[in-house]
Amino acid sequence: MAHPNNDIVPQLDGLAYGGDYNPEQWPREVWDEDVRLMREAGVNLVSVNIFGWAGVNPGPGEWDFTRLDAVMDLLANAGIKADLATATASPPPWFSERFPETLPVNAEGVRLNSGARAEYCPHAPAFQEAATEMASRLAQRYAGHPALAMWHIGNEYYRSCFCDLAADAFRAWLRDRHGSLAGLNDAWGTTFWSQTYSAWSQVLPPRICAETPNPGLVLDWQRFCSDALLDLFRAEADAIAAHSADKPITTNLMVTGDFSGLDYHRWGEYVTGPNRLVATDHYLIPEHDSEVEWPAQVAFGADASRGLAGGSPWLLMEQAANSSAWRRGYFAKRPGDQLRHSLSYVARGSEGAMFFQWRASRYGAERYHSAMLPHGGADSRVFREVKRLGAQLKRLAEVKSSTVVSRAAVLLDFASSWAAKTPGQPSADMATYRELRRWHAALWRRGVTTDLVNPAWDLSAYEFVFAPHLYLLDSDANLRAYAEGGGTLVIGPYSGVVDRNDRVHPGLPGAIRDLTGVRVEEFVPLPEGAVALLDDGTEGRTWTEAAHALDAEVLASFTGFPSTGALFRRRVGAGEVWYLATRPVDLNPLLDRLGLTADVPEGLELVRRRHEDGRTYLFAINHTAAPQRFDSSGHDLLTGRPWTPATALAPGEAAVIRE
Ligand SMILES: [Zn+2]
Repeated sequence: MAHPNNDIVPQLDGLAYGGDYNPEQWPREVWDEDVRLMREAGVNLVSVNIFGWAGVNPGPGEWDFTRLDAVMDLLANAGIKADLATATASPPPWFSERFPETLPVNAEGVRLNSGARAEYCPHAPAFQEAATEMASRLAQRYAGHPALAMWHIGNEYYRSCFCDLAADAFRAWLRDRHGSLAGLNDAWGTTFWSQTYSAWSQVLPPRICAETPNPGLVLDWQRFCSDALLDLFRAEADAIAAHSADKPITTNLMVTGDFSGLDYHRWGEYVTGPNRLVATDHYLIPEHDSEVEWPAQVAFGADASRGLAGGSPWLLMEQAANSSAWRRGYFAKRPGDQLRHSLSYVARGSEGAMFFQWRASRYGAERYHSAMLPHGGADSRVFREVKRLGAQLKRLAEVKSSTVVSRAAVLLDFASSWAAKTPGQPSADMATYRELRRWHAALWRRGVTTDLVNPAWDLSAYEFVFAPHLYLLDSDANLRAYAEGGGTLVIGPYSGVVDRNDRVHPGLPGAIRDLTGVRVEEFVPLPEGAVALLDDGTEGRTWTEAAHALDAEVLASFTGFPSTGALFRRRVGAGEVWYLATRPVDLNPLLDRLGLTADVPEGLELVRRRHEDGRTYLFAINHTAAPQRFDSSGHDLLTGRPWTPATALAPGEAAVIRE
């Protein structure tokens, strides 16, 4: 993907700083204190009206912009910009009562009740029309408002619905994709279990059924749900652009979690480019990591976001100032985490640091979710850190619009990760997200900046490309072109196995057999806790394959069953392709063998942003317990002091060196 747009928030002079602002939860007198404290903290952008439907449209045909006008005017007078949301993320109870068909139906066929949020069916015309009307009215009213910096559509899109309207829309989508019922029967392999459809009316969403559903159906359903939400986003974006052509439009995508929701790479062209920007929400998940590894989890979310933006700058729209109370267990971020994490996001291409939310809510489901201004008030550790972060980001204004150059890439294909989760897999433990996290973290520990990109994109800029788990692959053409051009491609086990319809390629490992020069005879998954020994002294776990070299060098073999090759290398054009027939317990010996040596001590995060005119900024964050020195000279923008290779960066501290 090209880099069409590096100045993604043109209405701000520097980096964005702020969070979701929900003044509708507070009496008017609190707003003045809000604005005073925002200015004290250096806030220059807030997201407003995300859950504002009930306020601006309190009943059928009733419109009341009094409060939103007052909020926008208040912000404009304070010199704070607004990321103005279309409020369509959560229809109010009156809407659900009037249009009961807009309440979503779950996989069991039960229509959900109102009482939470995101209670809509993406396929219900009444919701679609109401959402477009809302976007259009807001755009007409606020297009010229001095506070307006950008438009924000929906919120963390994820909703799916299994109702009859969804079934109709799914059939139309399938007709487009497969051409005919015969094409659909062929793609899904419906001769198995006598599932052959003789009329479109028999094709249903994957509602709860008697046994394991057809995996082709499950996979197409996920693609369809992603496309349906993209259609909602596009309809609102078009409605806004008709009245407000000069302001960027965005939505907050989610890089938290295991990529189970939407195919953001298919969203790419609609959220990148002129007057669009990629914005993401990233919440740390304690279950995924020990606390020590949080910096690696931050880096993963940031590198995934940069991947969605095609390498352009992007914006961290939401993070937690402290705990995320919706997670099991309430965990407090340690002193300095807020600054270190935020600088890591900025180092990796974010044009600022935003939070959910500005002031902690007294009530509602997220009353214990942390906020920039906590229940403890302004005289608190969290708010002092918020003020410090605001002051530091202000000093980084000149970094805006610069980009990150990465040496390595890890391949992420959303449909492949979904397919790997379809029922009936030989191992329930071959999880794409976990494998991507593991490889990314191993590279992070070596100080290697890594992009998370789609396997179909241009990979030629990368020295190393890792495909830890690319289960679904139709063709090896793009990977082959990358290797032939001189790149080093490393492919993990259980890759290239199925085509786009989740049908097993004949002759394993299917799509990559010729490219790797390896034949897989059978899969030999391992029980939990078991390890396979290799003759080079390393170990594999979870998964092994009986794999034979057809046209590849065998670098290591299993010592037990299977007694075949475990690590292979094949020269391809000017480059090489490595293939692993197991999951290494430790990735370091392989990275050493690849020559990907660490140039920094583990825990010293060094990432460079670069302007097109050649100016560079080295972000240095010391996650270790010892002072660190590194090779850079210039001025530290955070302190204004000169920097040389002899300067020590204290434990827990950060520097941004203009080189
Ligand atoms: Zn529905």
